[in-house]
Amino acid sequence: MYILKLNPVFKDYIWGGTKLRDEYGFKSDLDKLAEGWMLSCHKDGENTVCNGEFSGKTLTEIINANPDFLGENGKKFEYFPILIKLIDAKNDLSVQVHPDNEYAMRVENEYGKTECWYILDCDEDAELIYGFNREISSDEFRKRIADNTFLETVNKVKVKKGDLFFIEAGTLHAIGKGILLAEIQQNSNTTYRIYDYGRVGADGKPRELHIDKAVEVTDLCPAKPYPVTEAFEENGAVKRLLSKCEYFTVYSVDVAEKACFNADGTSFHNVLILEGNAELVCGDTTLSLKKGDSVFVPANCGEYTIAGSFKSVFTRID
Ligand code: ZN
Repeated sequence: MYILKLNPVFKDYIWGGTKLRDEYGFKSDLDKLAEGWMLSCHKDGENTVCNGEFSGKTLTEIINANPDFLGENGKKFEYFPILIKLIDAKNDLSVQVHPDNEYAMRVENEYGKTECWYILDCDEDAELIYGFNREISSDEFRKRIADNTFLETVNKVKVKKGDLFFIEAGTLHAIGKGILLAEIQQNSNTTYRIYDYGRVGADGKPRELHIDKAVEVTDLCPAKPYPVTEAFEENGAVKRLLSKCEYFTVYSVDVAEKACFNADGTSFHNVLILEGNAELVCGDTTLSLKKGDSVFVPANCGEYTIAGSFKSVFTRID
């Protein structure tokens, strides 16, 4: 039994920057590194493993051959449930919405997307779009897109490092320029683009909008604030519950010396190192980890420790 270190997959979307290369040290031939897919079994960008006997295999094929790696809670899902990304927005992302499971399975044949954002770094005046600033009708929704006054209806929120946003499926949203964040989401790549600031894609043409589908799935009420939770100490770590829903439970985990964890069969774990260096020990295997490293801990691994001075995001399924 060992813990799998993952090779990220990168995407060079037009709005991306270079912080994932410059600050995280990731290597890629792509010019812009907009997204790093840090835990992914999605066909559009699957992680491979870079250590041990499974080295070079995709996480998907390893899990298919070892379904116990998912744990009881992970096995309840038909497909691997989670996708985790690092996102570097040098420019504004399009204003968009994701459908819920029922709609997405029916129309797109994949999961819907509820997601959460954990702000890792941002420019001083950075802001993002989270829902509408008031209730609007679907007629007004369409009209404001058509006459280019859509942004007057959105809720803009200033952000700072450590902020958390829970974006339930159906919530209008957009990451703004100057924001670096970790996104924990359902395993889906279905996005309905509503407004793209009049930009063109790499081919010189405007990127496709999906207005009809967006109007069908968007929650037209103002977005509700998401509760902030208190930090607590547990097994050597300072933890804060960032987000908990049926698809994922996410904590920030800060460690000064050494923390203990237990993969007790209920769920796999993902640990994504955000700052510092760490040494993970599980049984007789040791893994050195640095900023940007992501590991998949099989659900039946048992106890393991991570020593060092580091900050991380920890994800499991409850
Ligand atoms: Zn999104």
